[in-house]
Amino acid sequence: MKIITESQCSGYSKPGHPETPERISRSAEHLRVQPDWDLEWGSPTEVPDSILLRAHDRSLLDRLSLQKDFDSDTAYFPGIDQIARRSVGGAIAALDATCAGGSGFSLMRPPGHHATRTAPMGFCYLNSMAIAALEAQARGFKRIAILDFDVHHGNGTEDILVDQPGFAFASVHATGYPFSGKEHRGANCFNYCMPGNTRREDYIAALTRAIEDLRTFKPDLIAVSAGFDAYHGDPLSEQKLEIPDYHWLGDTIRQFQIPTFSILEGGYSAMLPELITAYLHGLSGKPLATGTQVPAQP
Ligand SMILES: [Zn+2]
Repeated sequence: MKIITESQCSGYSKPGHPETPERISRSAEHLRVQPDWDLEWGSPTEVPDSILLRAHDRSLLDRLSLQKDFDSDTAYFPGIDQIARRSVGGAIAALDATCAGGSGFSLMRPPGHHATRTAPMGFCYLNSMAIAALEAQARGFKRIAILDFDVHHGNGTEDILVDQPGFAFASVHATGYPFSGKEHRGANCFNYCMPGNTRREDYIAALTRAIEDLRTFKPDLIAVSAGFDAYHGDPLSEQKLEIPDYHWLGDTIRQFQIPTFSILEGGYSAMLPELITAYLHGLSGKPLATGTQVPAQP
C-alpha cells in the first residue's frame, strides 16, 4: 500500500470550515505509527492540462485563478488552482502505484467528487476521481468501476462520467447536499440515497447492493472515492457507520482481486485517522487494529 501525500495540501484554510488541514496531517501521523505495516509513501505527480481537460471545460481551469469565492462553502484561496492540481496529482500517483502492481491511497485535499465538468462546488475544485478514472482508461483499462461511499452524492463524478462507455459509478449517500442522486441515472450510474438517521444495517445493505452493481459490471479496475462522513460521529451527517464498517468496506473491495486505488474525499470527525486506517487495513488484508472499539454487529 502506497500513501500519496504532501504538506503543501495543508497550506490553505478558513476559520470555522470543517475541511481542515489537520484532516490530512493527523491522518498521516496516525498511519506512520501503525505497527507491523510496510506502508510506502509517495508524492503527487505533475498533471498537465491535457489530462485535466478530459474531465473539465477550459473555462473551469481559467475560473480557478479568478479571485472570487465559488459558492458559500467553496472559497477562493490564493494558489488554489495549483493546490487542487496537486490533489489531482495525488489521485494520479495512486493510480500509478496500482499500475505498478500495488495499491495506492491519495491522502490529499481538497476533495474532488462534487466538482462538475464546469463548476467547483462543495469544498471541491477539480474532480480528482473523474480525472484519474479517465486517465486509467487512456492507459488501457477497459471497465472501470467507481465506488463512492462518501455520505454526500458524488454528483460531479456522475456529471462527468454518466453514459461514458467503460465506466460504472455507484454512490451510497444521504439525502441533503448536493440534493442529487435520488435515483439511478443513465445506463451506468447507480445511486442509493438514504434518509437521515438510517439504521446502520440498512446503510450497510445499501453499500452491499452498490458493490454488487459494480461486481455485475465485471470491472478490471476499481477506483474508490473514500469519504468517511457516514461515520456516526461525523458533524456533517446523521448516519451511523462504525469503525469496523470501514474495515469491512476495504476488505470487501480487496475481494474483487483486481487493481484498486482510492482517494480521500470527505470525513470531518476527529476519528478520521482511525477510519482511514481501518479502511486501509481492510484493503490490505490486515485485521482491524487491536484496541479499536468494536461495537456489536448489526
Ligand atoms: Zn462528504
